[in-house]
Amino acid sequence: MAVLGRGLIDGLRVTAKTLGRRAVTEQYPDVQPELPPRSRGVIALMEENCTSCMLCARECPDWCIYIESHKETLPPAVEGGRERNRNVLDRFAIDFSLCMYCGICIEVCPFDALEWSPEFEYAELDIKDLLHEKDRLREWFWTVPPPVALDPAAEKPKEIALAQKAADKRITARKAAEIVALAEDSATEDPATEDPATEDTATDDTATEDTGGDG
Ligand code: SF4
Ligand code: SF4
Repeated sequence: MAVLGRGLIDGLRVTAKTLGRRAVTEQYPDVQPELPPRSRGVIALMEENCTSCMLCARECPDWCIYIESHKETLPPAVEGGRERNRNVLDRFAIDFSLCMYCGICIEVCPFDALEWSPEFEYAELDIKDLLHEKDRLREWFWTVPPPVALDPAAEKPKEIALAQKAADKRITARKAAEIVALAEDSATEDPATEDPATEDTATDDTATEDTGGDG
């Protein structure tokens, strides 16, 4: 009896302690949860970016990425050039019943063809339906949030820094050329240096006039 009374008191104490706190219960599915934008919901595929390089499939610890592709020969870009080969993606599928959401495939993709989408409502009654083929993976891409803004204090990406340097160089060279052109123009237009002979003639005329007055 004493144990029962103790249990009741403990229970009431916990109730009293949490009574004033904000409820954390989510009313899902009536109310959608507010998930962080970078939540790992589902993997989306940008098919156009995929080169079928197989890096993601090779690195996946669960071997749940299936890629099939074939090579296509393209005619030379210029006459007399060489024919080119390119991979054409036939199948890209992820089995979400095996995936452990580690994100390795997204990290290793060199062409940003894979991204996380925060969508999570794709539960199925049949586990086989968790195998998403490329068309379905492509559709998830519309739900991928835009990339986060860069930290204003962060270093500029290498490519932007190089492009900025090249642009600065071009601007400096153009300014220098403009200064040289201006200097050349002003040298041509300077009246003092324009026709020294005319000045000399004018002096001569004055001298002649002076001489006439004396006579
Ligand atoms: S998140 Fe991890 S387990 Fe899932 S497909 Fe990518 S690499 Fe494989
Ligand atoms: S790593 Fe990227 S580009 Fe390569 S096969 Fe996977 S998704 Fe396609």
